Amino acid sequence: MMNKEELAPHVKEIARVLEGRVKEEDIERDLDNYLNVYRMSLEASRRHIVRKYGGDPNALTKGERKTLAQLGLNEGSVDILARVMSSTTREITVSGTPKTIQSGVLADDAGTTVKFTVWDLTKADLQPNTNYLIRYAYTREWNGQPELHLGNRVVVEERPDDEVVVPEGISIPSSGGRSAPQTVKVSGLQDNMYNVTLTGRILSLKNREVDTPSGKKMMFSGILGDETGRVEFTAWEDFNLREGEVVTISNGYVKGWKGIPRLSFGEKAEVTRPKIDFPSAEELSKEAVRTIEDIERTGGAFDVSVHGTIVDIKKGTGLIFRCPECNRVVLKGVCQVHGKVQQIPDLRVRAILDDGFAAMTVVMRKEVSENLTGITLKEALEEARETMDIETISQRFEERLLAKPVMVRGTVMSDDYGLSMTASEARFVTLDVKSEAEALLRKIEVI
Ligand SMILES: [Zn+2]
Repeated sequence: MMNKEELAPHVKEIARVLEGRVKEEDIERDLDNYLNVYRMSLEASRRHIVRKYGGDPNALTKGERKTLAQLGLNEGSVDILARVMSSTTREITVSGTPKTIQSGVLADDAGTTVKFTVWDLTKADLQPNTNYLIRYAYTREWNGQPELHLGNRVVVEERPDDEVVVPEGISIPSSGGRSAPQTVKVSGLQDNMYNVTLTGRILSLKNREVDTPSGKKMMFSGILGDETGRVEFTAWEDFNLREGEVVTISNGYVKGWKGIPRLSFGEKAEVTRPKIDFPSAEELSKEAVRTIEDIERTGGAFDVSVHGTIVDIKKGTGLIFRCPECNRVVLKGVCQVHGKVQQIPDLRVRAILDDGFAAMTVVMRKEVSENLTGITLKEALEEARETMDIETISQRFEERLLAKPVMVRGTVMSDDYGLSMTASEARFVTLDVKSEAEALLRKIEVI
């Protein structure tokens, strides 16, 4: 349980984002309620309150998570997960006063390296051969390259050894710098990546003939998986691929569709068959859990699972009616395209899922909605007939879903309104109160 004193900085932060439109005591009461009664996480509660009063939850303090290769030359606030390859301290003089700073080189999974400087050793003291999650850092240009700066806002957390595994044989420059090509995992793929090397098992494969300017050509597509997830791929040449085999694809590239990364490889690519232990196809078809923030970073994701809390139920949830011609939702039996139609009843959930750091829309079709709410279309129709009101179903959906922790699985795409998942599965999860509490405590300590 968080006491008044611990809530105070968060109340102030929410009040800042809401520009003083809401009294601090109201914010405090809400925050206490969501945290201690609904047992929502601290971040989800903060975001929910801001949203509730019409503010923008993204205005809350939060660094943006990036890979080292994605770092711009002038980032204001960025989060990085990386390994310290080298680190030294030295004395400098700032305005006549001696000061100890630290500098060195960071590397990540992709083998990208970046030079860093720590300006306040009481905030961060980075040890070589150690992994860190570095939050609220910033970058400045140095010789045309980004250099990561850890200032007095920085929050550093040591992470387990297996969270960042730097590829062997990369050169560690004395002054940082970028390296190509990139070796990536499936969850690291995002639109417009080039010269990508990826190892995965082919989980499905099909071919079809396509017309190209140079005549008919066979094209191969399917799903490739590794321990971080699954991705759809297209091979524009015949690499003699076989379903079930493990391949390393070099010099592939990523083209996204509505933000969903898709791996492509053609004549410039090379496919090799490494003799390595690799998870089975069955293993690779299980839930690939990602955070919403991480999916935001890649713009979308194919067949992933997200754990979060339903913080809002959108209009169009519950019993709806569709046009038999075009499947659009109709109002009072009138389709905006086909006019008066014999409407078809359907069930749907449109909800906002928040995982504590970011939010996305989740859309559940009939079967998924029925399974999750326990209310079938048949029951909904009977109830609507009795009450002569379809709104009661929406209210029952809301009662069953709002503020509940769920696990949803599906493909996430992005549009002008942000991320949206079409769920193929959804289930309630019981919060592990102890680990949630520990996570909360960790957050309180660092904020
Ligand atoms: Zn229609």
